[in-house]
Amino acid sequence: MTLYMVCPYCNKEETNVVDSRKTNEGNSIRRRRECPKCELRFTTYEKAEIGLMIQKRSGDIQEFNYEKLYKGIENAFGGLDINDKKLKTLVDNIHNEIKTQGNKIKSEIVGETVLKYLKESNEVAYLRFASVYKEFSDASDFEKEVAEL
Ligand SMILES: [Zn+2]
Repeated sequence: MTLYMVCPYCNKEETNVVDSRKTNEGNSIRRRRECPKCELRFTTYEKAEIGLMIQKRSGDIQEFNYEKLYKGIENAFGGLDINDKKLKTLVDNIHNEIKTQGNKIKSEIVGETVLKYLKESNEVAYLRFASVYKEFSDASDFEKEVAEL
């Protein structure tokens, strides 16, 4: 069996699994691998992880998509003065706060968390995100937000 796991010694991209067994706890798999190029062996552990699930207003449940969150926030900052590092830190902070709410959370929580962070970070980005986020709810909400600033 060949799986794509890079050799840590020579960086060859394909290494062979020579042994596969459950750990004592039974919740992960330990694999011994051998690199066909340098012939050195190493161990990997495979563990199941529950992803963060987002419940949309429609009731549909989707796996949390970091790229989508990043894109949405990047768009809100379009043309504004922010570098990639700051943007990533902001998105990571939002992501970390969302994660503390549990494994399955409502999309409203994601939206409100983003708005909270953007409000502290940049008013223009905040208003842009708010206008997109709230486009399906009452339009007067948005006018109220503007009036509050
Ligand atoms: Zn190797």
